[in-house]
This record gives sequence, structure tokens and C-alpha cells, in this order.
Amino acid sequence: MSEEKFDAIVIGAGMAGNAAAYTMASRGLKVLQLERGEYPGSKNVQGAIMYSNMLEKIIPDFRDDAPLERHLIEQRFWMMDDTSHIGMQYRSDDFNETRHNRYTVIRAQFDKWFSRKVREAGATVLCETTVTELARDSDGKVIGVLTDRTGDMILADVVVLAEGVNGLLGTRAGLRETPKPQNVALAVKEMHFLPEEVIDQRFGLKANEGCVIEAAGTISRSMAGLAFLYTNKESISIGIGCLVSDFAATMESPYALLESFKKHSSIQPLIAGSEVKEYAAHLIPEGGYKAIPQLFGSGWVVVGDAAQLNNAVHREGSNLAMTSGRLAGEAIFLVKKGGRPMTKENLALYKSMLDKSFVIKDMRKYKDMPALLHTNSRNFFTTYPQLLSQAAQTFMRVDSTPKLDKERATTAAFIKARSRWGLVSDAVRLALAWR
Ligand SMILES: Cc1cc2nc3c(=O)[nH]c(=O)nc-3n(C[C@H](O)[C@H](O)[C@H](O)COP(=O)(O)OP(=O)(O)OC[C@H]3O[C@@H](n4cnc5c(N)ncnc54)[C@H](O)[C@@H]3O)c2cc1C
Repeated sequence: MSEEKFDAIVIGAGMAGNAAAYTMASRGLKVLQLERGEYPGSKNVQGAIMYSNMLEKIIPDFRDDAPLERHLIEQRFWMMDDTSHIGMQYRSDDFNETRHNRYTVIRAQFDKWFSRKVREAGATVLCETTVTELARDSDGKVIGVLTDRTGDMILADVVVLAEGVNGLLGTRAGLRETPKPQNVALAVKEMHFLPEEVIDQRFGLKANEGCVIEAAGTISRSMAGLAFLYTNKESISIGIGCLVSDFAATMESPYALLESFKKHSSIQPLIAGSEVKEYAAHLIPEGGYKAIPQLFGSGWVVVGDAAQLNNAVHREGSNLAMTSGRLAGEAIFLVKKGGRPMTKENLALYKSMLDKSFVIKDMRKYKDMPALLHTNSRNFFTTYPQLLSQAAQTFMRVDSTPKLDKERATTAAFIKARSRWGLVSDAVRLALAWR
């Protein structure tokens, strides 16, 4: 192996690494992909919603054999307090199109399939191989990697770091900082198994249709966080995540949060009688645009979660990972095709392609949102959900109170909780961050 030199080494076989490896191998580059897990996907955690558009740009006919669970026709957004939820729901038969827009997937199966495509495209994939160090020449250019498999250095023109959010290589090599606790969420997730027809019945679904619920509110105990419930074919993925800095400050346990979410009267009937088979915990990059590190350098590029490319507002990560991986692969191919070296200047092409894509445009659009939600978490995740629930209940409960008095009581409750100025200021800051 040490004698052999590759055009590119890809570290990691998650969404970003597979996209990069496939893109380069299918264009004829000599690619080595290294994955520390027993098999691709064995270490990976996702909800998981997978976005077709971004995968179609890599493997247009993926629907022929990819392990897809359900296509989504309904999305529910819930704001919860301890006994209620108030929500918005969108369901459309238009999503029953032939080329479905979003699917639920199970990452262990999906990543294995993606990796098979990478191998079929001509890349060499080695699992159970941890990259321990980046190799550099005397000028600091990355020239390859060292692994725990042999003591030998494996050489390549360029190294693609697709090692995920807590990948240590890039941080150890000084290419980026360790993610700060206020910029990463810790999410826990369980898989609850139920017969397909029971899931169909509970969510009003048929023929592989799927539904997702995303929920915020008192369930995160004033921490900045979100819970989710996604329908798979014969299982339900359910989880919750909050900022690591909030967990540290409150000493709340992620597992306890998930337990109380599962027991909530709005959730419990949906998972009743299920068999829990898997439990996983993983970090999610949530620092937004301002947390994106340097994306390229002499002999290296970084993609996916390792580059903090995650849109926490829209809860999208895998599509940014796939797109950044694909664009890095395309940029490397173009540099190689032009007969140019993998210098920092030439690899800047990856960044300029990423800047023009939805990835950086979306990250930039919500650049102030993470900080706003993180610094006012009590208001957004406790006070407002409680106020909205009270308002809805006051509106719906029919008693002898005149309607005008009900409206006044609701307005007074909002002002008492946040003051007129507080309400206006929250609304303006939210609108500015969202614009
Ligand atoms: C609970 C949860 C729910 C989520 N839900 C969604 C969702 O519904 N939709 C969505 O789009 N996104 C979701 N995300 C985010 C999504 O999972 C990530 O954005 C995506 O997995 C990032 O892909 P990646 O390839 O960058 O990293 P990863 O998928 O983490 O892959 C990194 C790979 O690198 C390997 N690796 C690391 N270090 C080394 C090393 N030194 N040597 C060799 N291999 C190494 C790892 O084993 C791993 O296989 C969710 C995340 C979590 C935690």
C-alpha cells in the first residue's frame, strides 16, 4: 500500500465522504476511502430524512435500488408544553409524485448501499481502518495519511476530510478548531419497531407514505433544542437534541429528556406497544455560518459535518454533506484534469463552487438565527410555548366568559410574561434573523 499513490484519499464513509469518493471515482480518479467503522454506516446517526434532489445530482437513478423507507407526504411542526401541543401541519397528495422529494432512510442500510456504489464506481474502500494522522511534507502540504492498520504512510495528491462533526484529524492537525459546546447539539435517538399497518393506521398513511413530526417547547426544559419523530416502514425513529453547552449548564440528561418526550400525552399513543431495538447518541453542528472553518488548504479539503455545514433552522445536514462532498469531488477532478497541482490556490475552486450553491447561501441566510435561539432559549423554548398553549385553550374552551374578556386575558398574559417591549423586541429580532 505504501508504494501506491492515489489521486485522492477520502477519510470517512458517511454522506459527505461517499458523495466525494463516488464523484471522483466515477470520473476515473484513483480513490482510496478509509472508514473506521466495521462497515459504512455502522457509526452514523441520523433522523433520518434524506433529500432526493441532492442525491439525484450524484446518482440519478438511486431509486432503482437504494434502501428507502417511506416518502414523506406530511410534516407536522409542534410547539409543546407539558400537557398539550399546538401545531402546524402540511400534508399534500402532490408529494405522491413518481420521483419523491424526501424519504426516510436508516443510515446503517443506506450508507452500505452508497458505499457499494462507490466501490462499483472504482474506488478502493477499506473499513475498520482509522486514519490516525495527516502526513505533511516540509512545506506543510498534506501529502497523505497514516492509519492504525499499518505503520506505513499512504500517499495521495489530495485528502478529503469527511470525518464528521467530532472528527479529530482536522482539529489535531490545526486545520480547524474543536467545535465549541455552544455550537454543537447532542442528540439521542431510539428506533421503535411496530408493524407497517399499525404505523399506517396511526398516522393515516398508505403505500409507503410517511409523516414526520418536529417539536419544540418545554420538552427541552428551557434548553435550545428540538425533538423529532419520523416514520420508517416498520419502525419509528424518535429523538431529541439540545446544545451541549445547555446540557453542561443544566446538568439535564439527554436520556431523561427523551424518556419524558416519549411519555408526553401527544407522543405516547403514537409509539404505544412498540419494541425498542436501537439507541444512539451523536453530535450535530449547530453553530451556523459563523462556525464554518477554513474549507481548503494545500493538499486538503473538508466537507460535510466536519466543515460544520449543517442548517439547524431547517434541520438539514445530509444534503449539505452530500453536496459539499460532490462539489469537492468535482473541483478536485477539474484541477486534476487541468494538470494542475493540489495547491491551496487551486483547491479554492471547491470554495467558490460551494459559495454559489444552496449550501453557503442557506447557511448565510440564517447566520444570526442560532445565536438568537441559543441566547434567548428560555423565552423561545418555554415561555412562548406555554403562552401559546394557554391562548389556544382559552380560545377553545367554551364557558360563560365573554370573548372580549378572553382576548384581554390572553393579551395580558403575554405582556405579563414578556412585557410589551420584550414581545416587540423578540418579534423584531426573530424577523431580522429569519429574513
Ligand atoms: C440524531 C440526528 C438526526 C439527524 N437527522 C437528520 C435528518 O433527518 N436529515 C438530515 O439531512 N440530517 C440529519 N442529521 C445530520 C446528518 O446526520 C449529518 O449532517 C450527516 O450525517 C453528515 O454526514 P458526514 O458524512 O459529514 O458525517 P458522518 O455521517 O458523521 O460520517 C463521518 C464518517 O467518518 C468516519 N470517521 C471519522 N473519523 C475517522 C477516521 N479518523 N478514520 C476513518 N474514518 C473516520 C466515521 O466513522 C463516519 O462514518 C441528523 C443528525 C443526528 C445526530
